[in-house]
Amino acid sequence: MSTTTDLRRPHASAGPNEKSMSTKKGNSRLAFHPMSAPDFIPAPLLRELQLSRLKTIVARAWERVPLYRDRLSAHSLTPDDVRSLEDIARLPFTVKTDLRDTYPFGLFASPMEEIVRLHASSGTTGKPIVVAYTQQDVDVWTSVMLRSFAVCGLHHGDIIQNAYGYGLFTGGLGAHYGAEGLGATVIPISGGNTDRQIMVMRDFGVTAVCCTPSYFLHMIERAGQLGIDIRELPLRVGVFGAEPWTGAMRERIEALTGIRAFDIYGLSEIIGPGVAIECPCQDGLHIFEDHFYPEIVDPDSGAVLPEGEEGELVLTTLSKFAMPMIRYRTRDITALLPGPCACGRTLRRMKRISRRSDDMLIIRGVNVFPSQVESALLDVEGTLPHYQIILSRTQGLDQMEVQVEVTSETFSDKIGALEQLHDQIADAVEHVLGIRVEVTLVEPQTIQRSEGKAKRVIDRRLQS
Ligand SMILES: [Zn+2]
Repeated sequence: MSTTTDLRRPHASAGPNEKSMSTKKGNSRLAFHPMSAPDFIPAPLLRELQLSRLKTIVARAWERVPLYRDRLSAHSLTPDDVRSLEDIARLPFTVKTDLRDTYPFGLFASPMEEIVRLHASSGTTGKPIVVAYTQQDVDVWTSVMLRSFAVCGLHHGDIIQNAYGYGLFTGGLGAHYGAEGLGATVIPISGGNTDRQIMVMRDFGVTAVCCTPSYFLHMIERAGQLGIDIRELPLRVGVFGAEPWTGAMRERIEALTGIRAFDIYGLSEIIGPGVAIECPCQDGLHIFEDHFYPEIVDPDSGAVLPEGEEGELVLTTLSKFAMPMIRYRTRDITALLPGPCACGRTLRRMKRISRRSDDMLIIRGVNVFPSQVESALLDVEGTLPHYQIILSRTQGLDQMEVQVEVTSETFSDKIGALEQLHDQIADAVEHVLGIRVEVTLVEPQTIQRSEGKAKRVIDRRLQS
């Protein structure tokens, strides 16, 4: 790797080809952390590393996890059949129900004495899914979170308010260890108690915040009510994830606060947050490919799709010991972006994920994603990005209502303006979805705020 970066002053110079990042809150040179070196590995070396790790992990899964051995055997495959990276397409998929079916520990490839951490998802139905980490896995997780923060221009001296939930959810501890690894100051405030969040943000001189984008919107709104303008605080970076959000939502957040808002991606089944991160070019998320091998497949046929084509993201963990995941179907819809990124990272990029195949609603035979409604709403002036979709069924016919909060200025305006806004929104939503849905304008603060993942859809169809 050719770089003129002076590692003796790791936080003072930018990474290869990286421009300094300027924000409305002043210029801050992008940091290059020594741990970020793998971000810039020449692609041929990266492929070699991936193949070597893939062989190791498939052999480990075969030897230690009955489900993988059975699946490979059923396809007449053994680990020796993995000779090139292309051979990965011959391996069977792993799906979420495999984790539920083997609850709690059936997919572990390490004995419990070697497992230092367990996390679990809060399953809305049935059993949760359980994930495990050896110390080495925790170290990998810390390193990819550290590299994520470094990509966002954070470094030692930053004060990071971690408002992801701590506990069985992977968000809190994942971000925590990464931020500490970076040498930043972590405030482990967890989610909730919004007034305290804002007090801490102001009084502690917080420079970066981690949470869901919808919760940050709630913080912005509450800060306004408390007479605090986030633009005047030292906060300059937001690392937002754990739910799909649109580019339009990012623009709104950045315009309201003057910060740079970065999209971070991850899932517990793979490691937690830190699978991929946006760089300052904000044109897709770099996948930490030295640890997670991405493929895009046709969600119906399972066939691997070429670069640039949209489909379901499938991930294979290349270095996870306690619980290897081979070709795990994420249900997230994206595409791998062709061509190099202007930032100089060699890690491939994926398009930001604005929808999951699980989120798809079928309304009167039409496929609808909540993110489409969000992008339509954000195109209309006078609304707040707080919205909810309510589904019901009348006489066997699906009904979809979009409730959207309007700004207090608009709401107190004369009635004609509200009607005009209503029609504008109904048109914008119809334009995006291709069907006319009911739109209801509601007063500010009507829709319940979430301190974690926003609940965008209320489905009452089964009750009616
Ligand atoms: Zn980049």
